[in-house]
Amino acid sequence: MVRLPVDLRSDTVTRPTAAMRAAMAAAEVGDDVFGDDRTVAQLESMTATLLGKEAAMYVPSGTMSNQIGVRVHCRPGDEIILDAGCHIYNHEQGGVAQLSGLATRTVDGLGGVMRLEQLTDLIRPRNIHYAQTRLVCIENTHNRGGGRVQPLDELERISSWARSRSLAMHLDGARLFNAVVASGIPAVQWAAPFDTVSVCFSKGLGAPVGSALAGPKALIDQARWHRKLFGGAMRQAGIVAAGAVYALEHHVDRLAEDHVHAQQLAATIREIEGLQLKYDSVETNIVFFTVDERLGGVATYSRRLHERGVLVMAESASTIRLVTHLDVGSEEIAFACEQLRQAARELPDVDRRDTLRSAYA
Ligand SMILES: *Cc1c(COP(=O)(O)O)cnc(C)c1O
Repeated sequence: MVRLPVDLRSDTVTRPTAAMRAAMAAAEVGDDVFGDDRTVAQLESMTATLLGKEAAMYVPSGTMSNQIGVRVHCRPGDEIILDAGCHIYNHEQGGVAQLSGLATRTVDGLGGVMRLEQLTDLIRPRNIHYAQTRLVCIENTHNRGGGRVQPLDELERISSWARSRSLAMHLDGARLFNAVVASGIPAVQWAAPFDTVSVCFSKGLGAPVGSALAGPKALIDQARWHRKLFGGAMRQAGIVAAGAVYALEHHVDRLAEDHVHAQQLAATIREIEGLQLKYDSVETNIVFFTVDERLGGVATYSRRLHERGVLVMAESASTIRLVTHLDVGSEEIAFACEQLRQAARELPDVDRRDTLRSAYA
């Protein structure tokens, strides 16, 4: 039986499974502001180990994790380099300016992938006219790049250049485990080119709450000060951290299923006249496609899908995003593929009106 609606708006819509809820209910908790919550401590040490970093800190959201991650490297008046399509630049309210007084220098990455050659001229001279360049931020997988996995060799090149110029490196790895599963390259290796790494438990991993920031112990100690300042220090957070521990233990390998499902959606879109994949290759769990005006455009086509029990996200006036996740199984994907086809067979409303009119004329 297909569970409706089939919600492909985001991988954040997952609800904790019964087993995850049981783990959460049984979690040992304490006041984490006093450092007494053993489940949070367990999650932090698991995360640090997985990423090959000395320490990690649990935070309520990926946005907070990025904002603190950027903050620990910079002082007000510094400048950070980042891709123009990334989450930190587009989806965090310009938080690095609001919260940390930083200037941003954006680079047009190709599907979110920046090349070293695009960065080498961007370091500001040491001169009183300039903000001082301090940090490079990279997103992996890249959401707006269609869930793209960054090329590891390029990350390594950028990192050795950055280190030779005393720039820090921050990874927004909200979907890093999708990159791990798609590439077969372990998280430690993906994290190595970076000083700080943010990962989300509430995206593909299916936990209800939280992200973590990992890095050298001295920076994570400092990050705890910023977390308190930003209002993100929580009390008996072990209740939610237990969901994240469960997710790390049980929901990483299964991301491969989400990737297969995304391929199935992409194959269906390729077959439908009037729909066009934005990026021809789909590497992980995200599929972007444009909708021709002949099919009524994004608004009409999304509404039709909605009426047929499939929820999608309008990313722009011309583009729809589909994201696969834990709460959509193979039956739901087959159903969604069928609805994508059916919705494209319906004529746009205007045409239908015209057809009716001519039928009665
Ligand atoms: C979702 C996401 C975040 C932020 O996560 P929230 O928990 O929603 O604040 C950061 N970066 C990327 C790439 C994301 O997709």
